[in-house]
Amino acid sequence: MKPATAACSLALAFFSMAPAFSQSVAFTFDDGPQLKAMPRMNPQARNAALLAALEKHHVKAALFVTLGNGADRPEGLALAKAWGDAGHAIGNHTVTHLDLNGKTTTLKQYQDEILACEAVIRTLPGFKPWFRFTFLREGDTPEKRDGIKAFLKTRGMRNAYVSLDTSDWRLDSALAKVLNEHPDADLAPFRAVYLAHLRQRAEAYRNLSRRLFGRDVPQVMLLHHNLINALFLDHAIQLFKSMGWTIIDPETAYRDFVYSLDPQRPSPGQSLLISAARSLGYRPENWERLLDDGDEEIKELKRKGVLSAPAASD
Ligand SMILES: [Zn+2]
Repeated sequence: MKPATAACSLALAFFSMAPAFSQSVAFTFDDGPQLKAMPRMNPQARNAALLAALEKHHVKAALFVTLGNGADRPEGLALAKAWGDAGHAIGNHTVTHLDLNGKTTTLKQYQDEILACEAVIRTLPGFKPWFRFTFLREGDTPEKRDGIKAFLKTRGMRNAYVSLDTSDWRLDSALAKVLNEHPDADLAPFRAVYLAHLRQRAEAYRNLSRRLFGRDVPQVMLLHHNLINALFLDHAIQLFKSMGWTIIDPETAYRDFVYSLDPQRPSPGQSLLISAARSLGYRPENWERLLDDGDEEIKELKRKGVLSAPAASD
């Protein structure tokens, strides 16, 4: 093939692929608003920092409320309302964050918690009939799985799937542990591993969506209402922008047909894309890195000495 023809073919290939390869992501935050005391920032400051980062980048996100973490008290409800007032969506994430796969958890208990959470959050601006499963677990028996699906359908509630799962909660726990022991600890190593973790998961789930669907599915990313996001959300949004991703609102993402799929979920607690892959018997190369709990990043913090317990010098 002559060089000119080759270049022309490449250009054609590029342009024909371009429309299908345009990546977007919606940001969602679970377990909030969180009134628990943390080092460095009080609950109001954490909530304000999350909202300020979203506002700065004109991002509309979703907050999935776990009522018992704060919104059952006036000071917590005020924090949740601030999300609705700012134009973000408000969804349901139970009262006590109970586990539907727990052997002692009954379908009735789980449904009652959904109703109790809804009774409060439906008064807020931005309320959506969206339900985010706790631990992304949808039931350990056919009775629970079928029962909860029927319950959500009857009430007109959407299963607010996650496609881009992260382990921000694991890094947040490590950060809190270090700051509780050393309040002035350097935050830079945590920011570095947090951003590396988001990039790794984002790229891996993008590859998985291409393998499964032949295109870039609008991703719905799971983060939490916690300290690490309050500190670094601005950087996280900048990271996605630098990767060329478009940030969209969750409602737009959920319009994609992928979010109306109902794959078999033989293994609980995972992204919709993982469930879809399992249903098809497909196992990507980097499977382990998608399923771990940020183990590599925790190892990296230990390698840097950030997480070691320096018994000799302390
Ligand atoms: Zn949760």
